Parts: sequence; C-alpha cells; structure tokens
Amino acid sequence: MASIIDGKAAAELVRGAVKVRAEAFLQQHGRSPSLHVVLVGDDPASQVYVRNKELAAHKASISGLVHRLPIATTQAQLLTKVQGLSADPAIDGILVQLPLPKHLDEQSIIACLDPQKDVDGLHPYNAGLLMVGRPGLRPCTPSGCMHLIEAAGCDPAGKHAVVIGRSILVGKPIALMLLEKNATVTIAHSKTADLMSVVRQADIVVAAVGRADLVKGSWLKPGAVVIDVGINKKSDGKLCGDVDFAEAMAVAGHVTPVPGGVGPMTIAWLLANTVLAAERRAMS
Ligand code: NAP
Repeated sequence: MASIIDGKAAAELVRGAVKVRAEAFLQQHGRSPSLHVVLVGDDPASQVYVRNKELAAHKASISGLVHRLPIATTQAQLLTKVQGLSADPAIDGILVQLPLPKHLDEQSIIACLDPQKDVDGLHPYNAGLLMVGRPGLRPCTPSGCMHLIEAAGCDPAGKHAVVIGRSILVGKPIALMLLEKNATVTIAHSKTADLMSVVRQADIVVAAVGRADLVKGSWLKPGAVVIDVGINKKSDGKLCGDVDFAEAMAVAGHVTPVPGGVGPMTIAWLLANTVLAAERRAMS
C-alpha cells in the first residue's frame, strides 16, 4: 500500500515560512510584500481560485488587491492595466488569472509583465532562466510538485521520470526541473505511442493532462512516486485527478491525492514567489 503525500500539510509548512519572511520584510522595509491579481470576466472557477489566493495572501501577511475587469475588456485596455501595475514601485507581484476570455491574447499580456513581478513564472524571460538553469521566478505548480517529490523522500537523481503533458504551465517546466535534479526525463503527450509502456518505466510519474483517471494502476511500476496534477470533475460532481487513485495506491510507493495534493502547493508557491520577488526587488 502506497503512502499518501499530504499536500495540505506540506503547503501549511511553506505558508508558515512565507509568513515569517513577509513579516521580516515589513520590519525591514516598512511595508508588506504586495500581490496584485488581475481577473477578467466572471468565470466561476476563476473567481473561486482568485478568492482563495486573496485569503491565503492575507493569512501570510502579504498585502494586495484584486483588479476585477469586465469581460468586455479589450486587449489594449488589459495591456495598459498590466503595464500600469508593472510600473508601480509599490507592487511586488502580479498575477493575471488564466484562462483569459477567448478574445484576449494571453501570451502577449504575459510578455508585457515586468519579469521581476511575474510570480506565476510564465514570462518568456523567466522561462528562459529556467531553461538555462539560473534562479528566477519559476511556475508555481511545477515548483510545488518538486517540493512534494522531495517531501516523499525521493531524490530524482538517476531516476526515470515520465511527465505526461507538455503545457507551458506544468509539463514543460516540471520536465526541466526534474532534469535539473538529474532525473532522466521523458515527456509524453497526446501523440505518444503506447503511453502505458512509457509510464511503466517511470520511477517518478507526473500526470498533468486533464483526463479523469487516465493512468491506471496496471500502468505503474511498483514503488513509483506519483504526482497527480490533474483536476477533473466526475459526473457526481466530485473532483478527481488524472490517475486512478485507488488503483495507484495498491501499486505505487507514494501518491498525491486529488484534492489535497498538488493544489494546495500551487497557492503556497504563489505566496513564496511573491515574497521572493519583494526581497529581490528590495535588493536591486
Ligand atoms: P493543458 O494545457 O490542456 O495540457 C494538457 C496536456 O496533456 C497536453 O500536453 C496534451 O497533449 C496532454 N494530453 C491530453 N490528452 C492526453 C492523452 N490522452 N494522453 C497523453 N497526453 C495527453 O493542461 P495543463 O494546463 O497542463 O493542466 C493539466 C491538468 O492539470 C488540468 O487538469 C488542470 O486543471 C490541472 N492543473 C492543476 C493545477 C493545480 O494547482 N493542481 C495547476 C495547473 C493545472 P498535446 O500537447 O499533444 O495536446
């Protein structure tokens, strides 16, 4: 029987450490680190995510504001907004809640952020720093996954890691982070032939797909560390991941649950990146 990797408990520890740093920053600089979130439109899931981020920031002694813009916001208006926040010296972190409404071009909005304030780690400059192996603001979900892999007592060095999914948000950055930690990395995607055989070779599996219970227990190598990034809604309204949790528990060594695994780490890392951005800006 596998052990459950408790993302809630790990996130609680990260958030506690962030709060200590945020309070030290306030003592030293006379202001709290600040996070500004831009939310366009009224997508219910995004509203919940933003509210959770707002509450978590407040609890961690991070100040900030949510800028709620109407769905009719134009590309030019959003660019002006983000450029204004980027230019404001009192703001340390900016997050544009994704996905944006279809008529807006996410990539060009992200590219106009000040990379020093890009707490989601998605700006091409920060993606480039990760690519060349230099410290920078790194995407929150993959950073949280790496933390959970280490929390499970797994050193990726020399292990075979299979990442399912190749998005800019999760798959590609976590593949680079695993490589940086000396894992041998395979990136699988929707065109991968015989995915089951590929996954079967993995000591570490990261599933970031968005397909309920795609990865079966029979696909897993006994003892594997399984990080389930997927968030899917079942017909009964319950959330589940990309991995069949019950089956994985019978075969793997360590498994993250959904909910309560990667999700809490993502928010914790957003807070950590905000404090890091504030500390770096104060030093520059
Ligand atoms: P995405 O941009 O839609 O990417 C999904 C990836 O999965 C793509 O690379 C796609 O391949 C691949 N894929 C799709 N079907 C596949 C299949 N049958 N076999 C193998 N690969 C397949 O999604 P994302 O933004 O990376 O998110 C992935 C999941 O993680 C979603 O459920 C999302 O809600 C969740 N998520 C959770 C958190 C969290 O905090 N827990 C954060 C971010 C995302 P192609 O490239 O070939 O299309």
